[in-house]
Amino acid sequence: MFPSVTLPVEGSLEAGALYVVATPIGNLGDLSARAQAVLASVQRIAAEDTRNTAALLGHFGIRTPPGGLVALHDHNESKLADGLVAELAAGGTLALVSDAGTPLISDPGYALVRAARLAGQPVYTVPGPCAAIAALSISGLATDRFLFAGFLPAKSAARRAAFAQLKDEPRTAIFYESTHRIEDSLDDLLAELGPARRVCIARELTKRFEQSITLPAGELRDWQRGDPNRGRGEFVLVIEGAPDQADSREAERVLRLLLAELPASRAARLAAEITGAPKKPLYQLALTLGGDAAATASE
Ligand code: SAM
Repeated sequence: MFPSVTLPVEGSLEAGALYVVATPIGNLGDLSARAQAVLASVQRIAAEDTRNTAALLGHFGIRTPPGGLVALHDHNESKLADGLVAELAAGGTLALVSDAGTPLISDPGYALVRAARLAGQPVYTVPGPCAAIAALSISGLATDRFLFAGFLPAKSAARRAAFAQLKDEPRTAIFYESTHRIEDSLDDLLAELGPARRVCIARELTKRFEQSITLPAGELRDWQRGDPNRGRGEFVLVIEGAPDQADSREAERVLRLLLAELPASRAARLAAEITGAPKKPLYQLALTLGGDAAATASE
């Protein structure tokens, strides 16, 4: 499908430089021309899993010299980093790749990049796919401020603690999640953040069965359970930020005023229209404030 690579690297590689190269997260068409050229030209490639990277390189007809691929993963990178940086200091060129997406983003590479920086070696980016950013950009949730927190914890108690921290967090939050835990995670999310918080599930991005949907957490959990296929593959969860404290205080103030005159549902609807806050939580708040009872008493 792709011709073997003969593209020149613009300007050509710099002696002593480390190139951090993003690779596809599913669709091989997403390996950029520049990434191909860099991978074809460096003296060495440090790869999370050399078999995966060999297959990727083979697909693009990129040949590496013997010993050109070195395994660099969580268990050995601290040990290898200094040796690789010494090669850079001697004028070598090195690319860093992970199995998929952008290295260092929930992937190995931090020790190497840090060591290269500390040694004063140039570090260049060859940017490309990243599941977190890809999911955020299609979620329909606010992108002006966001936080990325890697994989959700495996255990429910720790996961709930992670979600609890988002109760008052105004930024959009992005997490990676595995196929085994997605349903349990949605249960925990619902328990901590309630049914109204909007959440995007992005699954199998760039692949054949790519699917993404953004719904309030309560509806999303039902949707997720509606079809076993929706639990398959790789996932990103993007969670809407909490309403600004000032906004929710204003919504509550308006709601309280309206509740003095109106039944809970009408007061919540009007308060939502006036302030732009979501109606459901306002209705729940109206009920806890004794809304209907108060309205009935005054009628
Ligand atoms: N470095 C990668 C990046 O830039 O996205 C992430 C690597 S992390 C070990 C793997 C996790 O990323 C998966 O478990 C999943 O949560 C997410 N992920 C990777 N590829 C994905 C895809 N095609 N669709 C959805 N999520 C994906």
